[in-house]
Amino acid sequence: MKKSKRWVLFYLAAIAVILFLSDRGSRAVTTIAENAPIKGRTCIVIDPGHGGEDGGATSCTGVLESTYNLSISKRLNDLLHLLGYETKMVRTTDTAVYTKGETISQKKVSDLKERVRIVNETENPLLLSIHQNQFPDGKYSGAQMFYAGTQGSQELAERLQSAFVSTLNPGSKRKCKKSDGVYLMEHIGCTGVLIECGFLSNPTEEAKLRDEAYQKKLCCVIAATVSEYLSST
Ligand SMILES: [Zn+2]
Repeated sequence: MKKSKRWVLFYLAAIAVILFLSDRGSRAVTTIAENAPIKGRTCIVIDPGHGGEDGGATSCTGVLESTYNLSISKRLNDLLHLLGYETKMVRTTDTAVYTKGETISQKKVSDLKERVRIVNETENPLLLSIHQNQFPDGKYSGAQMFYAGTQGSQELAERLQSAFVSTLNPGSKRKCKKSDGVYLMEHIGCTGVLIECGFLSNPTEEAKLRDEAYQKKLCCVIAATVSEYLSST
């Protein structure tokens, strides 16, 4: 990353941290919102992965992935909104988004189709799907991005991956990958990245992912990077 680009990233992250952590942020919000780099009214669709009967992975402390996904997504939504972006949440409560189905698998199919519909019916969308990773061996850690095959997705994922490594995951060798086999990512028509924020199977990382302050930092990194990406396109 060029020095100037990194500076922009940290500047935006710093503004976001100040806004998020300070009680005096409200006055500054107006200024930031007025100057926010809104490009063609992109609507950032935030998809908190899983929900309801489908809790996703279970952490080493017994908490369902869907809980972390929703908490982080809500913070990200608030922050992007503060920065002046139009946003849409796929779900705001601990529920799946299926509209039909009797069996668990039928509901799962309906849930995935509904998520695709929500994204594709949005005008000028950009998708951020929020998930947490898990592996039988607890030693693995670090965020990892998975990009759709659509225009811009790989670039955004690479920027996000690099931003995570230079801020929250120093020394991480993780590289972003194409989201092969992920239904939602294969059926959207817009730029989209699935963000695995970290490993719920790693006790140290799980404790961070549960921590409010860490979640805020994580959202700052995502918001600053998406903002930088949109400003450059
Ligand atoms: Zn997941």
